Amino acid sequence: MKKVLALAFIALLLASTLSFAMNNKPIEGRAKNVIILIGDGMGISQLYITKLCYGHLAMQDFPYTGYEMTDSLSGEVTDSAAAGTAIATGFKTYNGMISQVYIDGKDYNLTTLLELAEKLGKSTGLVTTTRITHATPAVFGAHVDDRDKEREIAKQYLEHKINVLLGGGKEMFSPELLEKYKDAGYTIVYNKNELEDANGNYLLGLFADSHIPYVLDRNKDDVGLLDMTKKAISVLEKNKNGFFLMVEGGRIDHASHANDIASVVAETKEFDDVVRYCLNYAKKRGDTLVVVLADHETGGLGLGLNYGKAIDEDEILSIKASTSKMAKLIKSGEDPKEVLKKYANIDLSAEELNKIKKAMNSTNKYALSNAIAEIIDNRVGVKFISHKHTAVPVPLLAYGPGAEDFMSFHHHVDTSKLIAKDMLFNGDYVVPIYGITHVKGDANGDYRVNKLDAYITLINYVGQKAEGRVKLLDMDNNGIIDYNDVYLILEHS
Ligand SMILES: [Zn+2]
Repeated sequence: MKKVLALAFIALLLASTLSFAMNNKPIEGRAKNVIILIGDGMGISQLYITKLCYGHLAMQDFPYTGYEMTDSLSGEVTDSAAAGTAIATGFKTYNGMISQVYIDGKDYNLTTLLELAEKLGKSTGLVTTTRITHATPAVFGAHVDDRDKEREIAKQYLEHKINVLLGGGKEMFSPELLEKYKDAGYTIVYNKNELEDANGNYLLGLFADSHIPYVLDRNKDDVGLLDMTKKAISVLEKNKNGFFLMVEGGRIDHASHANDIASVVAETKEFDDVVRYCLNYAKKRGDTLVVVLADHETGGLGLGLNYGKAIDEDEILSIKASTSKMAKLIKSGEDPKEVLKKYANIDLSAEELNKIKKAMNSTNKYALSNAIAEIIDNRVGVKFISHKHTAVPVPLLAYGPGAEDFMSFHHHVDTSKLIAKDMLFNGDYVVPIYGITHVKGDANGDYRVNKLDAYITLINYVGQKAEGRVKLLDMDNNGIIDYNDVYLILEHS
């Protein structure tokens, strides 16, 4: 009997070792489909507090993980526009700029991964819980010098004919513009039922005037990130050349700005559900690269105010509304004590009530919501250092063809190039580089222009101004080396 048990144990051990090895075997070939999942403002603390509350996350299931530095040309602390531009184009830029960079008095448009996918004949999609014209989706499908030009961004999406656009931001689309979308063949939907029923190859979904409500504040008719993602993939996967999709959990950032821990957890959990769906999709197919990352951390979230059992996960999970909703209710005349009891399960102390009353008289429109957040954070054992973005590196997770390259500690611009590489090239090239010759497009000095030159240009020169000999790699002669030049060298070869 003992022998049988021992054998069974060995068999089990072997099986689990084998399956582990198989799961982690690099997947060969080019990425036909690329799904980039961005948790806006999602630092490792936002991820970990969600794990503490909900248990195992899909984000823990990736075979390859790394870290990303997020600094922009403006300094250590980036915004979503500059961070997104770095992810979308392989260029560092200044905060506020959308896939443009300012060099020596001139703005340059930068070819994005989405545009590269379009050149390769792939379908494209952008999905978010913020306004669809907000910075993170915008960097993939528009070029403007200021992220606030959201109406212009809405127009540029149409020029790109992006197949799927789903999020909030109805207020940025004029009736005339919506007519133009219709004329161009888009199905336009505004609610959950319409989203479910929609078909066709072009889909615009606008589910809120501004951002889609926080998870905690939604009612059952509100559209969530998973609904949108499932629909987007079902539309995009029809293309035999594959697709490029960016999905943003956009309000992890807003909740972190507000220091609203319950919303941080709820938004990150929703994002993780989308990660799980996309990871399972990629596992079934074998030709899909899934990259999960954050553009930056927000709030400087610290976990634990003491040793030992310091964080109250049950209290976090019992909260039923965002701090901004609670603040709104109090401002509209409801009793603070009743609001905090009903939505946060908190019996306010005299001191806490005082804090809230003081904040009600403040001229700062966020004072009340901030005071509520501070009371909750203190009770559950977490603390934010600010209401702003921070400089700390963020997590990077990858699965699919080429995913092993992402096991690194580098910058957004490097991740961007790895994604471009996985879309354009099979496997790695190890090639001697003799330097650029006088032949246009010859990056490795063998007097021929071929795939290797495109590869070397991508890895070594994208993100640079076309000066001196590097000018020979500027195929479209626009003064910079970007993904379009890589594409043109590849086309030439
Ligand atoms: Zn932010």
